[in-house]
Amino acid sequence: RLFVEDDLAEGAVLNLAAQAHYLTNVMRLQAGALVALFNGRDGEWTARLVEAGKRRVTAECLGQAVGQGMPPDLWLLFAPIKKARTDFIVEKATEMGARRIQPVFTRFTNSERVRPDKLRAHCIEAAEQCGGVYVPELLAPTPLDKLLDTWPADRRLMFCDETADGMDAMGALTAAGGDKWAIIIGPEGGFATEEAERLRALSQSVPVSLGPRILRADTAAVAAMALWQVACGD
Ligand code: SAM
Repeated sequence: RLFVEDDLAEGAVLNLAAQAHYLTNVMRLQAGALVALFNGRDGEWTARLVEAGKRRVTAECLGQAVGQGMPPDLWLLFAPIKKARTDFIVEKATEMGARRIQPVFTRFTNSERVRPDKLRAHCIEAAEQCGGVYVPELLAPTPLDKLLDTWPADRRLMFCDETADGMDAMGALTAAGGDKWAIIIGPEGGFATEEAERLRALSQSVPVSLGPRILRADTAAVAAMALWQVACGD
């Protein structure tokens, strides 16, 4: 199951040179084998390998197997952390069906660690693995202040706040289940006091506790997306 950039349509012949090693050496596929292709726009297509040589691999699209649905309207915003953990967050957000992933710079964020090209590669790999036909939109990192200045009026923001004692996260989410949502997770050092105040003051903000213990940012991202999935996902 492979992601490709090309348009997918009946009879289209695609050059899969970039995936030649995986297809011929790892999967040991030969001409005639069927593969599943998706590009994030045209659903999933069944294709047959026409050539499966060391250098040249081509496939012909036979028919659409899965239509192009849109994932639930969830955005994940997170302050980038150590590289492997940021990669983990992006991978899990793709698996959980986030529509948009947005790195956010906060006061305690180490901004040098974000490599959008690498993060997109993780999104693609996760989409290939999890059977989704959509690759989340990955936005360029943006400062928290700028993000909040232009926050859309019609989107709720699940502010994951380890100081939000006693907040009923599930209740808050279920009450507004049909709304558009975004989740925001702070960096390992947490949000600065003024950032947390600004987040709380946003009228679309719903401060949410993820339990009595302080979770690592990557754990918090997965926990928050799972909560959202149960309360609001389809
Ligand atoms: N400021 C904290 C500290 O150093 O004590 C830790 C921040 S935590 C490692 C990183 C982020 O995960 C937080 O900013 C928050 O968004 C989220 N988080 C962690 N535990 C949480 C909890 N129990 N409830 C809600 N959010 C949590």
